[in-house]
Amino acid sequence: MSHQLTTCTFCGTGCGIYLETENNVITGAYPSISHPVNKGKLCIRGWNVHEITNSKDRLLRPLLRNKNGQLQVCSWEDAIDFIAQKIVELKNKYGPDSLAFFNSPRCSNEESYLLQKLARTVIGTNNVDHGTGVYSNNSINVLLEMIGYPASTSSISVIDKSGVIIVDSIDLSMQLPTVGSRVLQSKLKGNKLIVIDTRRNRIAENADIFIQPNPGTESWIYNAMAKVIIDRGLINRRFIKEYCSDYEEFIGSILQFDLQHASEASGVPANLIEEAAQLYASADCASLLFSTGIETRRTSSIQSMINLVLLTGHLGSGRGGIFALTEHNNLQGVCDMGMLPDKLPGYINLNEDSRIKSLEGFWQCKLSRKPGIGARLALKNAANGNIKGIWLSRYDPVSTAYFCDAAKTLEKLDLVIVQHLFLTSTAQFAHVVLPLVAFGEERVTFTNTERRVQLAEKVVMPPDGPLPCWLQIKEISNRLGANWNYKDSADIMDEIGQVVPFYEGINYRSLANDYGKQWPCTKEKPLGTSDIFEDKIRPKSLRFAKMPFIVLDAKPSEEYPFSLVFGMSLYYWHRNVLIQHSEILKREYRTLLLDYPNGFVEINPEDAANLKIRDGDCIKISSSVGSITSWARVTKEIKKGTVFVPYFIQEADRSLIGETVQAMGYRERPVFVKIEKQVL
Ligand code: SF4
Repeated sequence: MSHQLTTCTFCGTGCGIYLETENNVITGAYPSISHPVNKGKLCIRGWNVHEITNSKDRLLRPLLRNKNGQLQVCSWEDAIDFIAQKIVELKNKYGPDSLAFFNSPRCSNEESYLLQKLARTVIGTNNVDHGTGVYSNNSINVLLEMIGYPASTSSISVIDKSGVIIVDSIDLSMQLPTVGSRVLQSKLKGNKLIVIDTRRNRIAENADIFIQPNPGTESWIYNAMAKVIIDRGLINRRFIKEYCSDYEEFIGSILQFDLQHASEASGVPANLIEEAAQLYASADCASLLFSTGIETRRTSSIQSMINLVLLTGHLGSGRGGIFALTEHNNLQGVCDMGMLPDKLPGYINLNEDSRIKSLEGFWQCKLSRKPGIGARLALKNAANGNIKGIWLSRYDPVSTAYFCDAAKTLEKLDLVIVQHLFLTSTAQFAHVVLPLVAFGEERVTFTNTERRVQLAEKVVMPPDGPLPCWLQIKEISNRLGANWNYKDSADIMDEIGQVVPFYEGINYRSLANDYGKQWPCTKEKPLGTSDIFEDKIRPKSLRFAKMPFIVLDAKPSEEYPFSLVFGMSLYYWHRNVLIQHSEILKREYRTLLLDYPNGFVEINPEDAANLKIRDGDCIKISSSVGSITSWARVTKEIKKGTVFVPYFIQEADRSLIGETVQAMGYRERPVFVKIEKQVL
């Protein structure tokens, strides 16, 4: 029996785990005690992560759709020939922008780098995006604009030392459980916890201050907190003067955010907002944690959070930081690698001429400067029919893209290429399906939510048939005329180090000797950087954002009295394709299904009593554009006057929100609904 240290690849925490193997089979997993992220802890997903590799349902051979419309086993040669031939055909007929390349934020750095390189250098399009790009790119842009880095500024270990921790709109106990346990341990040590969320989640149960705003009013809370901090003279003047710009414009805009108004708009008592503001501003060290997947939030609401950090100077060693939490294991990495329609690897903008020219020199090709089409638009209606072929790497939009009916789009395309471990719902619409090797069967890297690039090790040989994702991309690219000579995934990381400046000092040799490296990791800083601002903050490099005064004109009415909230639930995880292929996880995540076998929406007990609705009753939820039917889960987790619809009810998004609001990309307007009990 052997034991090898590797990285859990389920969520963005990136816990260190040991895999136990015997006779080329992974037989168990257990936590690393000394790993700086999880310090001997794992959640249930980590303990059972290897079950997916051992699943009997894995795809072992490529599949090609035959003349009768059925997927049929084929050879690798036939699959690659077919793909190369179809890509050339579509590119010649409709141009390079008729093809799009989307991957999952679970893809490794090496796979992501090669997929966007194929799209940009071989095909000539910027039509690349990652599955969560439909919403998380908003956070990236705000962070780049305001602090110059599209990532968490500090290390998870700082949570232990933070006198005050704000957790915004993420149920850590479910999404990033090990981070959640670090937060609770910190709280047990006497540090203060503020939770701001429309749902009373498990972390909120332990909060010193729990702020439950009406949906869409979070920026009012932060702006009112900022005003309290300014009015009470709690701002960090030295920090602002030395490091921040645009302060005057910000101050001009913030004065209108009166505490009383914010209280009325958000439904949160004014004294609670005031208390939270004073607590946060008075801390020596404070951390602010939010999910990069906050789709339901306006850009201004993310800006308002960052403004608060700048106002109090809670950045840099010993002062705390911003944690832009990535729920998927490699969301940070796929963005770093350039799986973005408007940014090249290392976040090079398409208008940065000199940087693009130097990349063109390195890649020896001419790059398109035209922004690409993102996943949302392409999967919604193939960008009005302009997209003819889509490559989907580990991405299963038919199951997870709740913003559109991806199946309808995919069935009309001339080419759908799917790379996955399993025959997913999306694979059912593919012309060709390529089987992938699984966790533990290849050596690749992932970048966690604190910028830590870590190796996931090869601990067993893969079964006969599947190939590593990066190798598939390389073979197809070479068939299309590229001349890529990567011997292994380490070669790809060496190239990434030359293209992405903040990965310069990262290579497999150095990663293997440590618990990964946190970028920026350069030749000057080969050990990496635990806090982005640990050495110094460049003068005037941080920017305040001016806050628009948003008139909350949309309000609940007599006809539609409830605010709609979308979000994650355990049930969502139950539908996750990886969990579906682990017997233990499937059983555990099925808990909610025992009571609600057909799904549920959540309503507050008071609302339920008024409507004479009991737990488990069938209910109809209607907005001004449509309706859905589901089953009531009556719970105090939801604020009175709101209805929580988990993301897994895919048709709910389309039926209740409608095309107009969906088209805005982010949910700029609150949606109101009514609830009626259905008699079956
Ligand atoms: S918290 Fe995330 S990385 Fe850690 S064991 Fe759980 S799923 Fe894996």
